[in-house]
Amino acid sequence: MDIQEQLRLERAHEILAKPGAVRLDAASGIAVVESQTTPGQLYLVSLRQMTCTCADFERRHLPCKHLLAAQMMQREERGRYYSRILWPDTSWD
Ligand SMILES: [Zn+2]
Repeated sequence: MDIQEQLRLERAHEILAKPGAVRLDAASGIAVVESQTTPGQLYLVSLRQMTCTCADFERRHLPCKHLLAAQMMQREERGRYYSRILWPDTSWD
């Protein structure tokens, strides 16, 4: 993994740490991700098609920080979902 990839992952973690910055619709695999640099700017991520509407993705056609953040959130939500089924008596909050 090169330094740019590492930075992108770090940015993705930062995005996820901000409440409400990633809004994921699990059923459609579509996420709306807030821009880190431009307040109010939103990007549309499709986890099924592995696309994002930001300039970084348009230029490289490789996963950008928004796509990575949406993927992480999807993984996290799936984990919570299965945990509740497997261990229903546990409090996960
Ligand atoms: Zn993006």
